[in-house]
Amino acid sequence: MKFAMIGAGAMGLRYGILLQEAGNDVTFIDTWQPHIDKIREQGGVYVMRDHENRHLVDIKLETPETYDDDPDMFIFFTKQMQLADYLERCAHFFKPKHYAFTCMNGMGHIEKLQQYFDDDKIIGGTALIATVLPGPGEVDFMGKPGAGKMNMCPLNEKPDAMCKQLYNELEKGHMNPTLTDDFMGTLMTKVIFNSVINTICTMFEIQMGEFGNFSGFDQMARQLIDEAYDICARADIHLVSSRKEEMIALERNTRIDMPLHYPSMYQDMTNDRPTEVDYINGYIAKLGEKYGYNAPTHKFVTQAVHLAEYHRQNEKKMREQQEPKETIAI
Ligand code: NAD
Repeated sequence: MKFAMIGAGAMGLRYGILLQEAGNDVTFIDTWQPHIDKIREQGGVYVMRDHENRHLVDIKLETPETYDDDPDMFIFFTKQMQLADYLERCAHFFKPKHYAFTCMNGMGHIEKLQQYFDDDKIIGGTALIATVLPGPGEVDFMGKPGAGKMNMCPLNEKPDAMCKQLYNELEKGHMNPTLTDDFMGTLMTKVIFNSVINTICTMFEIQMGEFGNFSGFDQMARQLIDEAYDICARADIHLVSSRKEEMIALERNTRIDMPLHYPSMYQDMTNDRPTEVDYINGYIAKLGEKYGYNAPTHKFVTQAVHLAEYHRQNEKKMREQQEPKETIAI
């Protein structure tokens, strides 16, 4: 298949490179200039797995303004707050026949994709696949080859030939896809999962195992899950896991599967970038309001993450002010 990856960050590179290795024609489209410059200068992307085996992989890289091709499918891996700008800049090469696939975290992206793609050509999903972008031009695939898994579902819940072809290519790329039959349920189950781990570990800047093994983990996780599940029940969203299964998945992920990992949101915090919390806990709280349900814990966590962002910005400003200014000897 011919793919264009919109967003060549951690996940765009992981999906794109694995699809390329599975024999597909892949082009990456990105806008972060230091990353673009580095990839061009070194003749590709340095790929590692669990910090080891650093090697150069040749990729085709374009910007929204230079891309001029006709793929079968666009795969979107931007941060939620970057998507509107990417879509606007890329709109000139979207055609009615094109498919859009994404496994971005949070919610808000589907409505934006619907402005550019037909509903029967949008495929959503979720990825339990950890990837880090240590800096421009390099990517670190966390976990052994074949580790991690993902869910995918077409927006109209009717998988067509293109959706099945995508599934096959993802399987060949060892991404362990599962085709589910409930679009909103699939996406919201992951949003709720992230609303516990990503946000709490990010605001305290701790590894997932530290949270999972904390004596208050069960109570904190249960409170967030209960609010979110109550809201989804009111919104008639059929989650793909029960509350109990979601708790077990959280315990397993933090204590057994990834105790030494930081969630992807943590990378934004430590790079002084805005987090996606408004599209995760914030989205759940807003959905609650729509259905007359107050979600104080999700509202509180949203603001607590913003406070952590604000604190880091202030610390950064103070560090910059304290740095000795260059003096000119005359
Ligand atoms: P990313 O931040 O690595 O990349 C997204 C975009 O931001 C790319 O265009 C990239 O070039 C740009 N970018 C990266 N660092 C930047 C910087 N310092 N300054 C300016 N621009 C920068 O994002 P990602 O981790 O690939 O995530 C994409 C989506 O997938 C998000 O919704 C995320 O929550 C989700 N996701 C991520 C992971 C993961 O492990 N990384 C796992 C599951 C889902």
